[in-house]
Amino acid sequence: MSETIFCYCCRVHHPKDQMRPFTTKHGVRWRCVRSIEAAKRARAERDAFGQQQSENNREDSRRTAERTPMMHLDRDPRS
Ligand SMILES: [Zn+2]
Repeated sequence: MSETIFCYCCRVHHPKDQMRPFTTKHGVRWRCVRSIEAAKRARAERDAFGQQQSENNREDSRRTAERTPMMHLDRDPRS
């Protein structure tokens, strides 16, 4: 019979040979290779998405900066 370990990612037990120790800030947790690979892929996709987002944000803050001088006129500089 094969030994199983509880996968904290899938919340099920997997065969031990599919499990890898995964260090989190709460200590070592066991995750299956499949969930680690899936997380890696998801992160790569998120990074690509994040790059796109930060370009959008730069564009947004440039537009905000163009509007900002008007907002400053409303504020008392001594306060
Ligand atoms: Zn799993």
